[in-house]
Amino acid sequence: MYPLADLLELGKSPDILWFNPNIHPQFEWDRRLDNLAKVADHYSLKLIREGACLEDYWKNGADEYLKKYSSRCEMCYDMRMDMTARFASEHGYEAFTTTLLVSPYQQHDKIAQIARQRAEQYGVAFEYHDWRGNFRKGQNMARDIGLYRQKYCGCIFSLETSEFREKILKSFEV
Ligand code: SF4
Repeated sequence: MYPLADLLELGKSPDILWFNPNIHPQFEWDRRLDNLAKVADHYSLKLIREGACLEDYWKNGADEYLKKYSSRCEMCYDMRMDMTARFASEHGYEAFTTTLLVSPYQQHDKIAQIARQRAEQYGVAFEYHDWRGNFRKGQNMARDIGLYRQKYCGCIFSLETSEFREKILKSFEV
């Protein structure tokens, strides 16, 4: 919520791109996308959906890919920034940014570094913001319109190590 509100306040006209092959299992992928659709409706913004839930890839197929990176999260950031920068370039956008920049739990500087590299590669601007100081404000905004708020980062590994694992698994049964 907060990044979009800030961009609108700055006079930007953002479209929203959903590309999250790292959200597992499918139930959670659907739930987060449904909630993003509510946000898009709330701000009357266009929502573009790309990609699918790649749980098997994360579990079994990513080893080769991972050799290129220092960590699974770096691979994950790069996959998403690569797609976003390429999409922005191919569809005539002036710039792209990412809601990942609001999270104090992510590797902020690494995300910005990767996004800048991909921006340069595809010839599109990366718009950097440090939104972390308004993370709580964003959470309150989400609560105000009744959004589901995630309890783990997204991939199956982050679910397995979450302190809320049992509670999350129960929520999949609803
Ligand atoms: S913990 Fe989060 S950033 Fe890291 S690989 Fe999993 S979904 Fe991606």
